[in-house]
Amino acid sequence: MARAQTDNLPRPQNQRPSQRVVEPAPPIAPAEIEEPKKARRPQMMRQYDLIDRVKAYNPNTNEDLLNRAYVYAMMAHGTQTRASGDPYFSHPLEVAAILTDLKLDDATIVAALLHDTIEDTAATRAEIDEKFGPEIGALVDGLTKLKKLDLVTREAKQAENLRKLLLAIAADVRVLLIKLADRLHNMRTLDFMPPEARRRTAEETIDIYAPLAARIGMYEMREELENLAFRELHPEAYRVLTGRLDALAARNHGLIGEIEVQLTGKLADSGITATVLHRRKRAYSVWRKMERKAVGFEQLSDIFGFRVVVQKLSECYQALGIVHTTWPVVPGRFKD
Ligand code: MN
Repeated sequence: MARAQTDNLPRPQNQRPSQRVVEPAPPIAPAEIEEPKKARRPQMMRQYDLIDRVKAYNPNTNEDLLNRAYVYAMMAHGTQTRASGDPYFSHPLEVAAILTDLKLDDATIVAALLHDTIEDTAATRAEIDEKFGPEIGALVDGLTKLKKLDLVTREAKQAENLRKLLLAIAADVRVLLIKLADRLHNMRTLDFMPPEARRRTAEETIDIYAPLAARIGMYEMREELENLAFRELHPEAYRVLTGRLDALAARNHGLIGEIEVQLTGKLADSGITATVLHRRKRAYSVWRKMERKAVGFEQLSDIFGFRVVVQKLSECYQALGIVHTTWPVVPGRFKD
């Protein structure tokens, strides 16, 4: 008797093999695995990449100045290398690139390129003043002073540290911005450092640099700094929370897009031009909140958020009204 192709599962003698046709398993597609940060070694940014980034937001940039700073810093750092084995110059270059994301002026970008030259190379303040002008010289000098401050205050109490740092940078906020970008790049490339240095850098980041970033309104930078430090200090908690956040995001994927579309539509119906952005809490903020409120992951209600950016102040409350009439307010959970 002809039979359909059957499975080969073991079964009791008196049981007929299943008549179900066994579908061949689909070929296993190569999974799209996101490369872990440490394995990613992108090619070093080129001179024109940096110039292009600046030109994209500042058409009047002084290209000659940027080019001279690039070459000067590259020559000054020469054959120095980072712990990763990369040429040292890749670091100031990445720091400058982070600052182009913040659309900063030429002096800041140039000072970022030069930020480690006085401390780590034969370059001097006088030479930088002469070649790039006193404005840039002062910025680089400020960063050199902050670096020295780091070394002396490492043992000091956090608040003390913070205050000294703030005092030192009060003269020009651009020095602080470069310092934060410097720290961010160091945190992104922390994996190559010895364990003790990693822990110390991560602690310092949470205690000093993340609060400083928040103090000047750089919330995204604060979140990234904290999250990188958290990964270093509590790797297991980081792994578990990131996994749960990823799972939650995957489960709500459609819903989040839907809310965004619905909200944008409702606002447009009322004549409000708004940008609706969604954001997701990072592992560190979830962890901190769970600790602070002594609650479990399931009890957190603000893992996803929507930000509505409108043109005029009066539209803020109009937009809020639209949100309230579209979705019910959870009693006791509304803050204005
Ligand atoms: Mn640096």
